[in-house]
Amino acid sequence: MARAIRTEVAAGIAELVTRTGASPRLAAVLVGDDPASQVYVRNKIAACHEVGIRSEEVRLPASTTEEQVVGRIRRLDDDPDVDGILVQLPLPGGLDRTAVMLAVDPEKDVDGLHPLNAGRLLMQLDAPVPCTPAGIIELLDRAGIRIPGQHAVVVGRSAIVGRPLSMLLMQRDATVTVCHSKTPDLASFTRQADILVAAIGRPAFVRGDHIRPGAVVIDVGVNRLDDARAAASIFGEDSPRVRQVRERGTTLVGDVHPREAAERAGWLTPVPGGVGPLTVASLLRNTLRAARLRRRPAAR
Ligand code: NDP
Repeated sequence: MARAIRTEVAAGIAELVTRTGASPRLAAVLVGDDPASQVYVRNKIAACHEVGIRSEEVRLPASTTEEQVVGRIRRLDDDPDVDGILVQLPLPGGLDRTAVMLAVDPEKDVDGLHPLNAGRLLMQLDAPVPCTPAGIIELLDRAGIRIPGQHAVVVGRSAIVGRPLSMLLMQRDATVTVCHSKTPDLASFTRQADILVAAIGRPAFVRGDHIRPGAVVIDVGVNRLDDARAAASIFGEDSPRVRQVRERGTTLVGDVHPREAAERAGWLTPVPGGVGPLTVASLLRNTLRAARLRRRPAAR
């Protein structure tokens, strides 16, 4: 599915280049040296390259002050050759995410996280949709999974995933329950879900008994496991994933227990290789969208 979206985006980019003479350009701002964030930014830049989007990493040291980050972003706002800006999250401690996001020109906000765009989404106005929720809706649609009238339970209420996703599911006529760390007896809610989304950030937290048999389970979580024993208890002693921990020191696991969920769920997204690639594909699409809007004849 992600590949199909990338192919569609590549065709859109080619058309834009023919019409306007320049391919879109994305700036990815990375503050600090969090290894996972470095990998994410590298993957995004590689994906841009593949579809014909020019992209650059704007790397700032962890010691950069909020004022300096904001100043750098404002320069990107003012650069007419930059169509999209993303700020890789999380930011190092001491930097206020809202203050930084407010510095991004809403027209160049390809993550849909600027408060103005978050508000537009809430009001059902045209807006860039945050990439992970957009990817999840796309995934449900492309898999032919019905959303209207379904009970969707979203575990997690972050501004990046849980909150915008619950909004989108509601706009698509699902009945939505949002759960979080203060929800008592979580399983009593999740077991009611036709569509269950886990965006928690805790390895293999959603167990078999959280899942209604036949439910659609979307695992957003990306957690690093570096303990072979913990990996064995999740994936099974003979799993290649346990070997991966022993050989490479780490493996990835979602928020959903993969073996238990596979026995109960009707559909289950894998980690890695599920929501992640769709998130990147949505970023490409949002960049194309931003470039098209910026280059409308009337806007020039
Ligand atoms: P956050 O830490 O911002 O939010 C986590 C949410 O989970 C919070 O709302 C929190 O509740 C809730 N939560 C935490 N513990 C529990 C619990 N025991 N029971 C119920 N709810 C709980 O995380 P993100 O939304 O940014 O990310 C979630 C996961 O998704 C992470 O693993 C992240 O790496 C991954 N991710 C993956 C992406 C992809 O492309 N595949 C993209 C973005 C994120 P409360 O609000 O009460 O604290």
